[in-house]
Amino acid sequence: MRLGPFDTSRIKVRSSNDGGGGGGGMGAGGIGCGTLVIALIGAVVFGLDPMQTIGVVQQVQQQGAPAQGSSAGGPELSEEEVCTQNAYATEACNALTSLNDTWEASFERAGVPFEQPGLNLFRSGVVNTQGCGSATSAAGPFYCPADKGIYIDTSFYDQLAQMAGTGGDFARLYVIAHEYGHHIQNITGLARQVRAAQARNPGAANRLQVAMELQADCYAGMWAGKNRQLIEPGDLEEGLKAASAIGDDTLQAKSGQGVNPESFTHGTSRQRMEALRLGLEARDGGACDVFFEGG
Ligand SMILES: [Zn+2]
Repeated sequence: MRLGPFDTSRIKVRSSNDGGGGGGGMGAGGIGCGTLVIALIGAVVFGLDPMQTIGVVQQVQQQGAPAQGSSAGGPELSEEEVCTQNAYATEACNALTSLNDTWEASFERAGVPFEQPGLNLFRSGVVNTQGCGSATSAAGPFYCPADKGIYIDTSFYDQLAQMAGTGGDFARLYVIAHEYGHHIQNITGLARQVRAAQARNPGAANRLQVAMELQADCYAGMWAGKNRQLIEPGDLEEGLKAASAIGDDTLQAKSGQGVNPESFTHGTSRQRMEALRLGLEARDGGACDVFFEGG
């Protein structure tokens, strides 16, 4: 995708590195782009401590206490420095600038107040989020509703390239656009409504979670579709391959578990590809609401 250069006056970005250490690799089951969100929902529905439930969040930062090793890597980087630290960071900042422009315009047209998410980039380590405790790289990319932050460990992109069988940029753009989709769900209030519905009807919790994920995929496609003129040959195929590679059925099969739809939280490979395509081809803003129709 031929994205324009990032503009730090139109994005909020920071480096969330803890200074390096630690950082285990990510197992096949670790592609939890929504893991933290799921964990929080789990807390609401089941009364569980999300930090223990999911196993990826190792410590909760004490309120008010300085996080251990927080920003230990040195002085705080400027936004310009964060965005130019490596090619992945630059690409993510370019994408964020475009995502902000596209979504802000949509909200403006609809007369709905808009708020940008923050982008937190880190690499192979532990990240101390502002609102969701600490997470390791094993969490994969995620969105934290409490601080409206998208968190991306750029080392995930190397794994994505392997899984999707493509090192193409659009697979990575799809990931950040998907997390951005969770931000849209947060600021429109949909995420809150879904959590309430899940609390009322725990039996539907999983289905609703899948619907959230597919809608985020759809929103990712919608962003790309609204920037059609920037799409290059092969982009869509890359996106669909990535959507396919990180479907729950594919991940479960790869991890050696039997495929168990009851435990799906993101949708099957086919569902994810269809959701992305639906967004790409959307003619109006409500196209991605289909996942919540009929209950
Ligand atoms: Zn997600």
